[in-house]
Amino acid sequence: MVRDPLTQLHNRRYFEEHLNRSWSVHERLKAKIAVAFIDIDCFKLYNDHYGHLEGDTTLRLVAQKISSFFSRGSDIVARYGGEEFVIVSSLQNDAPPFIERAEKMRQAIYDLAIKHEKSKVSECVTVSLGVCTGVPPARSTPSLFTRKADAAMYQAKHLGGNNTVHTEF
Ligand code: GH3
Ligand code: MG
Ligand code: MG
Repeated sequence: MVRDPLTQLHNRRYFEEHLNRSWSVHERLKAKIAVAFIDIDCFKLYNDHYGHLEGDTTLRLVAQKISSFFSRGSDIVARYGGEEFVIVSSLQNDAPPFIERAEKMRQAIYDLAIKHEKSKVSECVTVSLGVCTGVPPARSTPSLFTRKADAAMYQAKHLGGNNTVHTEF
């Protein structure tokens, strides 16, 4: 089972396997890869206020929106866990087009206008993104790359949420 039952996205295990494979290919070709972490802002407060079922519906809507922006052959989207999602993408050239697409997706999630009265970030549901891009170096690992993307996501949170932080590997 490589699909998450709630969102029908790939699960974390698939993400890790895919990244390992993709990493080797990109290292060999000296090509750029992107990993983006997406975390819903103040989602515990959402569940506490609107209930778990409404929470599930929102998770599905956010998952669908992410998928709709990252559905190319060179992209995969997975549910990493709870209210966290991850994208792996093969970059044709440089990072800016990927960052632009991620920013459009972030705005589109805001534009869903899912009411979130208890959020400390906004009046509706928002996400924070951490993106790491680069050519996999020979003496490194996918998990270091993943950790950098995750750290960037936490930075985005600390900057107030509903934004994106990009870091180069
Ligand atoms: P932050 O802005 O820092 O990300 O805070 P947060 O509240 O979003 O993050 P935290 O990790 O504290 O809480 C995540 C919440 O996500 C906890 C749980 O209520 C909710 N959650 C996780 N998995 C599911 C799920 O499958 N369904 C629903 N409805 N809620 C879930
Ligand atoms: Mg989280
Ligand atoms: Mg969260």
